[in-house]
Amino acid sequence: MATTPLSVNLNPMVKAKNGLPSKVLDKAVKILQEEKSKLENELSKFTKKNTRVSGDFDSTFPEYGDKEDENAAEVADYVARLPLEHSLENQLRDVNQALERIKKGTYGICKYCKKPIKEDRILARPTSSACVSCKKAITQEL
Ligand SMILES: [Zn+2]
Repeated sequence: MATTPLSVNLNPMVKAKNGLPSKVLDKAVKILQEEKSKLENELSKFTKKNTRVSGDFDSTFPEYGDKEDENAAEVADYVARLPLEHSLENQLRDVNQALERIKKGTYGICKYCKKPIKEDRILARPTSSACVSCKKAITQEL
């Protein structure tokens, strides 16, 4: 049986610690879990999970055949998939971190100013860990 370490079965105590009404939190959890399975499904098509590093995936090398053009196509496809692999990995990492924050009860609270993040921002981008004004301040610094 597949185990889901982060389920929706968060007890009320955990929910109370998050900076969001449970209605919004439930919605965010649902979006995040859907996103997680979607990303894992995408990654499983051309990678296998790295069993040593959690959250890391290794692209599998395609096997088309032993002819020269087949070998060239294998390399080309492998290289072409790497940016996609990294992008999916990053998205999955963000989703997992958001789920982790829900578990810890710090979700919905800006990691910089510790103020609650607005609900509409949470629902538009459930992986947000900073409020709009902090995010803006940081982006301008860069
Ligand atoms: Zn903030």
